[in-house]
Amino acid sequence: MSKKVKILSEQLANKIAAGEVVERPASVIKELVENSLDAGGKDIIVEIEDGGKRLIRVTDNGQGMSREDALLSMERHATSKISMDTDLFNLQTLGFRGEALPSIASVSRFTLATRERGSLEGCEMYAEGGRIRDVKSCGMAEGTVVSVRNLFFNTPARLKFMKSRETESGHIGEFMYRLALSRADVRFTYICDGKQVFRFLPGGIADRVSAVLGRNVASQLFPLNADGDGVSIKGLMGGPAVSRSTPSHIYTYINGRYIRDRVVQHAIMQGYRNVLERGRYPVLVLFLTIPVEDVDVNVHPTKHEVRFREQSRIHAAIQHGVETLLRGTPWLQKESVQLLRPSVTASTPSGQSRVEEVKESLLRYAMRQDGLPLVPSPPRERMGESPKQFVGNIACDSQPITGEQPQEGGYFTSLHVIGQFRGAYIVCEDGSDLLLIDQHAAHERVVFQELKRTMAGGRLESQNLLFPETIEFSPSESAAVRERCAELGNLAFDLENFGGNTWLLKGIPLLLSGSDYKQALRDTVEELCSMGRSKAFAEMVDDILATIACHSVVRGQRQLSSPEIRRLLERMDATDFAASCPHGRPVIARIAQRDIEKLFKRV
Ligand code: ADP
Ligand code: MG
Repeated sequence: MSKKVKILSEQLANKIAAGEVVERPASVIKELVENSLDAGGKDIIVEIEDGGKRLIRVTDNGQGMSREDALLSMERHATSKISMDTDLFNLQTLGFRGEALPSIASVSRFTLATRERGSLEGCEMYAEGGRIRDVKSCGMAEGTVVSVRNLFFNTPARLKFMKSRETESGHIGEFMYRLALSRADVRFTYICDGKQVFRFLPGGIADRVSAVLGRNVASQLFPLNADGDGVSIKGLMGGPAVSRSTPSHIYTYINGRYIRDRVVQHAIMQGYRNVLERGRYPVLVLFLTIPVEDVDVNVHPTKHEVRFREQSRIHAAIQHGVETLLRGTPWLQKESVQLLRPSVTASTPSGQSRVEEVKESLLRYAMRQDGLPLVPSPPRERMGESPKQFVGNIACDSQPITGEQPQEGGYFTSLHVIGQFRGAYIVCEDGSDLLLIDQHAAHERVVFQELKRTMAGGRLESQNLLFPETIEFSPSESAAVRERCAELGNLAFDLENFGGNTWLLKGIPLLLSGSDYKQALRDTVEELCSMGRSKAFAEMVDDILATIACHSVVRGQRQLSSPEIRRLLERMDATDFAASCPHGRPVIARIAQRDIEKLFKRV
């Protein structure tokens, strides 16, 4: 009988483990910086070259290692942090698996130089693809310096998966932010291709948040301090004024460790549910302290996921903490009241339309325009009992709108305009039918179509800002801007780097002048980030145009003058509105004379 089952060699086992721990340069940095923090480092310097592909170096002033320990640390499952299985349930350190150093070393050219505190000299060790090639004594300051060169040089498949220098640097910056927020007492320096990107001085959490997220955002955050039921929650959180379109600015930590957990995020969103519009996410930095025996961090090698012993208790505590703060914060209350107040515009698509909702309906409409399959149109409902229900139930007309043909052009300009209702609907007469046009929905769609047309011809019309404004992005957003700068230019966002992650906004789409163009740009950039590099820009354009269209339309009730109404109807004609049934949100509701007569029991 042949023997097929073999024990893997140490090198191969390490390479396999590396697949889990070392996904990209940023994950190397996470592991190395966590080691530095565990070693009591108070001054940590991270240097990278070429997005971490050529070099990653982490220097700390922690306790260092003896020569024996340094050699041992390269062995799999070698750790100073736990020794008994019960320790696993009482973890006080960030690391414990003893996998990071051998894994990283197995896929790179790896140098570890370290000098134990109180020792006369240091020791330097060099390994290639996990094999130790050289060990020698060296002079150096107390602490540890780990250099990782040519990551994945011996795993071509992984090498290919690495993204551009900008993208990898963006990820690294993001990881650095997470780490820096977790330990305000530690000095962090980040150097990218010889240039210092940031240096965060040790201080309190408020100073650190301000340094990391920018003073502008930080000034709009409120301190949260809640204790009870075995959970302590501390941190800073913002209201609707600083919301984001992705959860990228939710920083959560459990017992000092950055985590991305479904339960925690859900609890936060529940806490915010009456304050934020759907599709928006808060900015917040939250530190949870939970008895170590109540949380298991050994779920995944990257330790970003956790398991709670009593999930519902933790969920309730977080939600309660968030809600309580939001209730007690006067300016938040004002905003939330505004959002919650029932009004015609809040419950209809015209007024407080949500960016997401608008985008979705615009895009569905776009699909129709491109001749792609349609979402089936809702069936035409029967008339309800009360007039209110009746209007609410009217579906968009799935037949091409026919009517008297206009003398000088389109269908809409031929309508007899009766007036405007609640600053939101244009009321018209079409033969024996009454037509209600949702002016916001119509406007958004018109703008979207116009943008698409202009974009097809090259680029959007821009307007230079008299006083360029600075905008600060997160590292990954900044990376996306850098990569897509030319394309953003075609969308008429004229941006110039102002050092680090700060950008100078010099020009904007003409259409956005007078509206919140900074928010529109932020949403656009978040869009770019969430869709990543995998998608061709052309594929994202509709999405982005929908975002711009949505931002360009003035929200809330607005009285239109007759010429303004006429102008809108003309634009609707020019946008080929008449031929198609708009899907998603209806733009037009039609009420037949007969239905009105039924209301009055005349028929
Ligand atoms: P873990 O962190 O899970 O213990 P690692 O492979 O990351 O495993 O590190 C192995 C061991 O090497 C650690 O337990 C620690 O004793 C030592 N070590 C690693 N990095 C440093 C550092 N920067 N300073 C001091 N000791 C370190
Ligand atoms: Mg470690």
